[in-house]
Amino acid sequence: MRLVILGAPGAGKGTQATLLAEFYHCPHVSTGEIFRRAIAEGTELGREADRHISKGRLVPDDITIELVKQRIEEPDCEHGFILDGFPRTRSQAIMLDQMLEEKHLGLDRAILLELEEEEIYHRLANRRVCSNCGATYHLDSLPPKVPGICDVCGSSLIQRADDNVETIKERIVIYHELTAPVLSYYEEQGSLLVINGEGDIDEVHKRIVSNLETRSLRANDSC
Ligand code: ADP
Ligand code: AMP
Repeated sequence: MRLVILGAPGAGKGTQATLLAEFYHCPHVSTGEIFRRAIAEGTELGREADRHISKGRLVPDDITIELVKQRIEEPDCEHGFILDGFPRTRSQAIMLDQMLEEKHLGLDRAILLELEEEEIYHRLANRRVCSNCGATYHLDSLPPKVPGICDVCGSSLIQRADDNVETIKERIVIYHELTAPVLSYYEEQGSLLVINGEGDIDEVHKRIVSNLETRSLRANDSC
């Protein structure tokens, strides 16, 4: 399965990509997570990415495209991947198609998770992530078993530096400005699957899977 998960910040992309990766036994590739790791490690890529991420802006296309190119060349992506947070610009979407075409491959679907802006703020304000493994929690809907501690690796949970009101506002503006054309790009191709991102995590997961599995699904269907 080769999927991309699209949606506004906080729409649930990472959460659903993790579940889809388990379900379809393929890697979850999150460009945001790769950047955050590079920032934590203090690499050159991390320092450059941080300059943009901390302001709520996108990391430049050339850097991001090269990163994804290298990541999907890795052997674990040979039979599929769930791309989370990429593509975020029309150029990235075009480049992804070109990369896949060179291998005589294509995307199965681009999934758009739709969510009201009010709920986006609620989700982001209460998001906590593991400082070590990146696992994601929510103070109300997905709390850790022990407050402040990651269930997976026992490390401490933190709030993402870009999950503050000012940066969230900027990320939403950028989403409408630069990522909206990606939605039309996939809509024109007939590969966009629009999914209602409301409801609990398991409900949204089942909604995605049942729609992916429905062979008779018409292109650009909404559900
Ligand atoms: P994105 O990757 O799109 O930025 P996340 O997957 O990190 O979004 O989700 C944002 C926050 O909302 C996280 O704290 C996550 O635990 C929580 N969350 C995700 N999906 C749901 C859902 N369906 N219902 C309630 N909370 C959710
Ligand atoms: P995310 O974890 O998907 O919310 O991404 C966090 C931040 O990383 C974004 O706000 C961007 O600054 C940066 N980022 C992630 N993916 C991309 C991408 N495809 N293109 C440019 N910047 C990205």
